[in-house]
Amino acid sequence: IVHWTPFFQTYKKQRYPWVQLAGHQGNFRAGPTPGTILKKLCPQEEACFRLLMNDILRPYVPEFKGVLDVNDTEESNVEGNEAGETLQKDSNSDNVTKRTIVSSYLQLQDLLGDFEHPCVMDCKVGVRTYLESELAKAKERPKLRKDMYEKMVQVDPSAPSAEERRVQGVTKPRYMVWRETISSTATLGFRVEGIKLAHGGSSKDFKTTRTREQVTEALRRFVEDYSHAVPKYIQRLKAIRTTLKASPFFASHEVVGSSLLFVHDAKNAGIWMIDFAKTLPLPQHLPRICHDAEWKVGNHEDGYLIGVNNLIDIFQDIWNS
Ligand code: ATP
Ligand code: MG
Ligand code: MG
Repeated sequence: IVHWTPFFQTYKKQRYPWVQLAGHQGNFRAGPTPGTILKKLCPQEEACFRLLMNDILRPYVPEFKGVLDVNDTEESNVEGNEAGETLQKDSNSDNVTKRTIVSSYLQLQDLLGDFEHPCVMDCKVGVRTYLESELAKAKERPKLRKDMYEKMVQVDPSAPSAEERRVQGVTKPRYMVWRETISSTATLGFRVEGIKLAHGGSSKDFKTTRTREQVTEALRRFVEDYSHAVPKYIQRLKAIRTTLKASPFFASHEVVGSSLLFVHDAKNAGIWMIDFAKTLPLPQHLPRICHDAEWKVGNHEDGYLIGVNNLIDIFQDIWNS
């Protein structure tokens, strides 16, 4: 499944099924005020939004309206508690435990709020989607993983080396690096995570949409019958690129696993940067990165601008044909 409707949203007298193209279904809920949504709080992402509200990138990210604690009632027969949630009270009835837990959420602008029957696309930007620290951790005690070997063979039987075939296993760091090559992430600096068309439709799996031709076809289908959106997307991407190059936030952060969210309907089209859960300040010894240089282990380059440049080129190809 590529998209979910975790809740119905009401805004501007309309009621519509809210669309979620990635992430865990339980991470989102309707906001307390119209036109807002709540995303489970991650401290790293909160820190980014606080900086972004004072950065020139502000027009290109959802408005951040603060942190909200919400009481969730949860029925469960499992003891224990999830990380980050405070246990408030327990009441036992038979073997079901009802408990109220307080979860913190980021209150964000609902980017779908100004659209009618929107088409939505999530593109994850950058040449890798894991942090340098995650790779370093995977390298600490690299064990041979049979499960990862099998996932690899399922996608591409020719991917494992002769040695990996012999031992029927691959290490996690090897798997992480390989996984970015089955989509367009490693070569184009972005990949399509999910698409939802106006009336359902095309919630295809894009995990192995890899070549420029395949990606172009996916984007072409996304804007089919909405040709007005193409020049708007090109213009918006160029404005984002110009702003990124001048942004103090962008210069000083490694932006990994973040997406550009494309939204259009019959009249309008917009793009916003979302998902900063893996966007980290650069280490002290590295005051800035350029975001369009080749990534080598340790240089923290994320390839974000490579992705933006390729998105512009591909939408321009679509417009010219
Ligand atoms: P993952 O890390 O797996 O990508 P996540 O839990 O960090 O997921 P996000 O990537 O931030 O979540 O968002 C998941 C999806 O929710 C997006 O693809 C998009 O469809 C929707 N979404 C997120 N933020 C907004 C927003 N402000 N307005 C409208 N839709 C949003
Ligand atoms: Mg995401
Ligand atoms: Mg995320």
